[in-house]
Amino acid sequence: MANEGRTSPRRVIVLGATGSIGRQTLDVIAHLNADCQRHARPPLFEVVGLAAGRNAQALSRAAKTHRVQHLALAQGEPPTTGTLTGPEAAERLVREVDADTVVGAMVGFAGLPAMLAAAELGRDIALANKEALVAAGELVVDTARKSSAKLLPVDSEHSGIWQAIGAHIAGAWNQSPPPMEIGRDVSRVTLTASGGALRGMSPKAIYNATPRQALAHPTWDMGAKVTIDTASLTNKALELVEAAWLFGLRAEQLDVLIHPQSIVHALIEYADRSVLAQMGAPDMRTPIQTALTWPDRHPGLAPSLELARLGQLDFEAPDHELFPALRAGFEIIRRAGTSGAVFNAANEVAVQAFLDERLPFGRISQISCAAIQEVGSSPIRSMDDVLHADAEGRRFAQTQLNDTPATQATHG
Ligand code: NDP
Repeated sequence: MANEGRTSPRRVIVLGATGSIGRQTLDVIAHLNADCQRHARPPLFEVVGLAAGRNAQALSRAAKTHRVQHLALAQGEPPTTGTLTGPEAAERLVREVDADTVVGAMVGFAGLPAMLAAAELGRDIALANKEALVAAGELVVDTARKSSAKLLPVDSEHSGIWQAIGAHIAGAWNQSPPPMEIGRDVSRVTLTASGGALRGMSPKAIYNATPRQALAHPTWDMGAKVTIDTASLTNKALELVEAAWLFGLRAEQLDVLIHPQSIVHALIEYADRSVLAQMGAPDMRTPIQTALTWPDRHPGLAPSLELARLGQLDFEAPDHELFPALRAGFEIIRRAGTSGAVFNAANEVAVQAFLDERLPFGRISQISCAAIQEVGSSPIRSMDDVLHADAEGRRFAQTQLNDTPATQATHG
């Protein structure tokens, strides 16, 4: 998509530009353009729009550094007079500013309208905002299919699946970006999980973990919400659903393996039992760049993988009892409909309450899993169904918060 043969740079909008993925995306773009300059080639990318939530200062700094005119801010004082503002600002930016690629690096359900707009407009979507696919995978994928929008995975595991499939099927890497159907010759797709910051702790210590403990991730440096999701394995549940939508996978074809070093990102087992694994140093700049420059490869910013220095790679089965959210991921794929939107909404409310020290860590998954059972699920016919399910999931979680003391030291 990106490069060879193009005389003009690809125009990119970065949503969530002030966050972990957004900032790394801008670093990757600056690095690739500097590389072009060194080789007297035209730049690969031009950043034409940036959106953020509430950090006006960081948005303004990024706009100056990357010379971006079109800005959007969901909340707070806009940094320039022309900045789009309000909850719909990111979606308006996508609709009003012409672009080739939209990077979806906003966190949470709030990113969905802008993702759907990008899919409607047939943009290439470098997708990090997994919550959009979990809540409304059916709508996003259908819309992308109709407009021929490409959903290029940024999540390292999904980038791994995509590359391991592309390596196997002749020409698939060049021609078949997601959404795609994996053929019958794939028997199992395994997503690895680091295990998060609380891996190895006792059930009681996990239940009562503090935000500080849960935020101390050993291998990835990420935003707060995804780091907490990683500690509860909710992130892996969301990723299972994301993989099901991107690659047309059934729950029975999916699997999760704990791999603390985060070097192997995904494994594809074929029917003949041959397995292809995708590896790389745990550095999100690699999958971000893979999505941006697809199907071409350019020198990357991450360190080379030195397996001899690492010495060993460890794998273990996840504990479904200790981390019940994981089971919910499989259940959402089987149930489909609005179950993903309900689960995601309840989780967003519970994670925020935990970060605000109003909820014990162990209650997060209890609440989000209970939401699927209590709120139930119905088919998605329109965005209204998704919005309704999201509101119901939030309402359910809110009632649960009111019934929960902030700590339960006797649990376990
Ligand atoms: P961060 O919390 O670091 O950043 C979130 C970004 O979203 C910020 O720029 C924030 O703006 C912006 N934002 C929040 N609400 C709105 C809104 N209403 N309108 C516009 N922008 C908004 O998160 P991450 O970068 O860590 O994660 C982003 C997404 O990528 C998540 O879905 C996550 O699961 C996924 N992901 C992240 C990985 C990582 O390594 N970080 C790895 C793989 C996937 P502001 O700062 O101004 O509030």
